[in-house]
Amino acid sequence: MYRMYDVVIVGGGPSGATLARLIDQSKSVLIIEKTDEKSISKLCGGLIAPDAQRMLGKFGLFLPKKVLVDPQMFYVESYDLETKNKQRYQRFYLNINRKDFDNWLLKLVDRNVSISRNTKYLSHEYSGDSITIQIEKNGKRDFVESKILVGADGSQSQVRRKTFNDFRYITKYISIQSEIVGGVILPCYEVYFDRGLTDFYGWTIPKNGTNIIGIALQGKDAREKYERYLKNVLGNNFQEVSRRSTVIIRPRRLNDHKTDKDNRVFLIGEAAGFISPSSAEGLSYAFRSAEALAASINSGKNTGKDYRKRSLRIKFNLFMKNIKSIFMYTKFLRNLIFKLGIRKL
Ligand SMILES: Cc1cc2nc3c(=O)[nH]c(=O)nc-3n(C[C@H](O)[C@H](O)[C@H](O)COP(=O)(O)OP(=O)(O)OC[C@H]3O[C@@H](n4cnc5c(N)ncnc54)[C@H](O)[C@@H]3O)c2cc1C
Repeated sequence: MYRMYDVVIVGGGPSGATLARLIDQSKSVLIIEKTDEKSISKLCGGLIAPDAQRMLGKFGLFLPKKVLVDPQMFYVESYDLETKNKQRYQRFYLNINRKDFDNWLLKLVDRNVSISRNTKYLSHEYSGDSITIQIEKNGKRDFVESKILVGADGSQSQVRRKTFNDFRYITKYISIQSEIVGGVILPCYEVYFDRGLTDFYGWTIPKNGTNIIGIALQGKDAREKYERYLKNVLGNNFQEVSRRSTVIIRPRRLNDHKTDKDNRVFLIGEAAGFISPSSAEGLSYAFRSAEALAASINSGKNTGKDYRKRSLRIKFNLFMKNIKSIFMYTKFLRNLIFKLGIRKL
């Protein structure tokens, strides 16, 4: 494979697939995705929140039944494990199978877009007016050329690392998630706060007759904390079917968001640091940033300047989520909210 493209997108997740779908057909586009269709699902709660639903509506997309799982939920139960305070508020989430959702989004991409699965981005360098991108497919190294390189490669973006080398400064958590059967658990979306374990939160979500339980933790003793968390929430009578973990980023500073470099390399979705620091909701930001970059690429204007301008609204929204975090994660303020019965923040 050695071809010149207008745009090479690293990552065929929600942001990469959406960008590829929205770029003008006149442009040649290649998506490089390291997994194949059958690979294990991305570690995720698999909930489409109202903001992401709005974006799907804006795109005019209809979600097929095959990506949904049981049950669909209309409220959230939130618990403070220290004070035992609890609150129920209404919010409608779509409960999905994340792997099926990602595969569905990628299938919507226009036939003019080339998709290379099982292909890993390794590095890139500028050569004249283009960028030479080194990739690995089936153990073999190869090169592609492009005018524009987009990092849509998620929370551990290699494109971002190789372009900005700044990922180590973003606040990171290890999110551990298990599939379980049994235990004292409600068949609804529950969120847990416990300052003794984490300054972020934990969750349980029912999925097709089983439940997933997860939490975002920090520190060397994260595994021990996880065992405590399982006991606190589930009691002793449960069976753990599987357990996985991944990095989750929590962008707290404006500088954690990076969008572009030299009018040639661009970042979208979680690679850009676009994920809610209050809830870790990321799908709406993946869609919004992909939409913004596609509009900039299609506009024929200075892409870097235009994308920076368009992403200001996303950054402002994330700034407000950081303010919201102060209320959600300060024990006194949260308990006040619980007491006053303010239903949602
Ligand atoms: C535990 C957990 C639970 C979450 N739950 C939710 C939730 O319920 N709802 C929600 O809205 N958000 C949730 N999120 C956040 C959400 O998953 C992300 O924000 C969202 O997936 C970001 O989309 P993206 O396309 O930017 O990145 P990703 O979905 O991470 O996609 C990146 C893609 O790039 C590919 N890739 C990575 N590196 C390379 C490489 N070197 N070469 C080629 N391909 C590469 C990956 O295989 C992947 O397909 C959760 C996150 C975590 C960690």
